[in-house]
Amino acid sequence: TPRVGVLALQGDVREHVRVLTDLGAEVTRIRRPEELAAVDGLVLPGGESSVIDKLSRAFGMREPVREAIADGMPVYGTCAGLILLADRITDGIEGQQTFGGLDVTVRRNAFGSQVDSFEVDLDIPALGGSPVHAVFIRAPLVEQSGEGVERLATLDDGRVVAVRQGSLLGTSFHPEVTGEHRFHALFLDMVRERVR
Ligand code: GLN
Repeated sequence: TPRVGVLALQGDVREHVRVLTDLGAEVTRIRRPEELAAVDGLVLPGGESSVIDKLSRAFGMREPVREAIADGMPVYGTCAGLILLADRITDGIEGQQTFGGLDVTVRRNAFGSQVDSFEVDLDIPALGGSPVHAVFIRAPLVEQSGEGVERLATLDDGRVVAVRQGSLLGTSFHPEVTGEHRFHALFLDMVRERVR
């Protein structure tokens, strides 16, 4: 049974816990370094990346999360979580930091105020099967990515909304709110592979 955590400082923690539990994982809410040390994979939830950034520093979680990423721990970030995984961000609030790890540039709130949120069906070959119903809520966009980054999903106009680089996985949208389990299943496969 994979032991995984959801960073529980702010955001849609409960939704991730539910999907991961449904998939048979042992799930812990992570607020302290010693809790992180006891899991083999981490989810960074959707929410507000600047708030999660600030709280992670206040709770002494920034360095432990960075070390876990550097150490190869599988990490999956949705929306704000994708922003937190990005090496570079544009339109962050002043002083906003990320954990980094993903060789991408991500623009926060990339879709502007008229289209704060929207839903589309995405074909994602890496997941196979039926299209993914993707919900975007004040979503970020991957504007640039390095050579080692696999683009898993794009919008019709080619803009990139899901990526993987080694042990790191990120989506602009929120599979955890639509009953879509395949991204979390892929994440758990990555965790199993790593602990084997
Ligand atoms: N706009 C948010 C941010 O900058 C992300 C929104 C979300 O996670 N749904 O963190």
